[in-house]
Amino acid sequence: MKASPADIDRTAAVEEIPTRKSESVYDNVTRQFDKAADMVKLDENIRKILAMTTNEIIVHFPVRMDDGRIEMFTGYRVQHNNALGPFKGGLRFHPAVEIDEVRALATWMTWKSAIVNIPFGGAKGGIQLDPSKYTLKELEHITRRFTFALGDNIGPEYDIPAPDVNTTAQIMAWILDTYLSTMSPHERQRCTHVVTGKPIESGGSLGRDKATGQGVVFTIEEWAKDRGFDLRGATYTVQGFGNVGSWTARLMKEHGSKLIAVEDVSGAVANPDGIDPDELVDYASKNKWLISGYPKAEPIDRKTLLQTEADIFVPAALENQITADTAPWLKVKVVAEGANGPTDPDGDRILREKGIDMIPDILCNAGGVIVSYFEWLQNKRSEFWELEEVDCKLHKKIVAAYGRVRDTAKKYKTDWRTAAYIVALDHLERVYKERGIFP
Ligand code: GLU
Repeated sequence: MKASPADIDRTAAVEEIPTRKSESVYDNVTRQFDKAADMVKLDENIRKILAMTTNEIIVHFPVRMDDGRIEMFTGYRVQHNNALGPFKGGLRFHPAVEIDEVRALATWMTWKSAIVNIPFGGAKGGIQLDPSKYTLKELEHITRRFTFALGDNIGPEYDIPAPDVNTTAQIMAWILDTYLSTMSPHERQRCTHVVTGKPIESGGSLGRDKATGQGVVFTIEEWAKDRGFDLRGATYTVQGFGNVGSWTARLMKEHGSKLIAVEDVSGAVANPDGIDPDELVDYASKNKWLISGYPKAEPIDRKTLLQTEADIFVPAALENQITADTAPWLKVKVVAEGANGPTDPDGDRILREKGIDMIPDILCNAGGVIVSYFEWLQNKRSEFWELEEVDCKLHKKIVAAYGRVRDTAKKYKTDWRTAAYIVALDHLERVYKERGIFP
């Protein structure tokens, strides 16, 4: 039996729209970084350090399939920077995973942690595969063999993986178990924080599952306050109905906002009278976690989704969705980036020209890593926090970061993405200047 997406995660990929996959995602990071570094006149030496990753690990490893065949897999872990604390970031299982993408995602993690002021560096990893092609047992073996191949390149005080596209709490539990199995019995109890996003029983935190979506909604609330905009009755569209997209959609409903179009890997659907996100999740759970065929909405194509007039658009799928080709289509007031890197620099420019506000990814979707930090702390202290405590602490951290980015954008009279970079670079520059470079 093939693993159903419910067993792995609700994927959110988009294939038909012209994406700029051929253009390097890492080029986007470089262009964004250069713009902010020029603007703040970042120290030349620190610029050289931050412009490169620290470690790039590529492992090839064999796994026995259910039919007895051996298949070879390629896994990646890129560690960008650990000046602020252990390397931190997710692992994704997706056919598009390759070194350039992982480099970009690792670098974004460094900025993300620096902006929200948590003591982590940036890393990212993954395996190039289509998880829907494997059984659950095969996925378990692939995960365990990858963890074993990474060996000491991960560790609770060194580099801490977490869920990302197509990786779930279950996958984190397999990573934890494999990692602990290689430890001496004396060490084992002290290492549960080698990975975050675990199932609650295995040391996960309440609120981690919804954390990224919750953070997206907290930043939208702040944007609405700034703009004097009433979220009650506001319309929103969502690209991607995986963990981030579905949680964002459900939490927006609590504000009385109306989901009018949504897309996942199986297609897009729309209803101008509103789609109930909870009903859609319920439908998807019985439909291999896909939204196509949802009876209370009309099927639309992906271009129509991006052209749908709404107040808020939440891209929560993959990189390079809002580009020179697609940005002209958007008719929204704000883009809240639930995904990492959904807008390329050309897309950014076009949205600015159109007067569309932007809550950039490294601020907007930082809720996931913030609650990962809380999980890590709970594990280290053998504590278990109530959901209210997690939500309240997440709110405080992300609202403070939002304020820092907003104030920086005003001070430098610049766009919010560049402002978010400036907050991160300023933080890192101060740390490097205080500590100096060894030797
Ligand atoms: N994969 C998530 C992200 O891109 C979370 C990473 C983490 O919790 O370490 O932010």
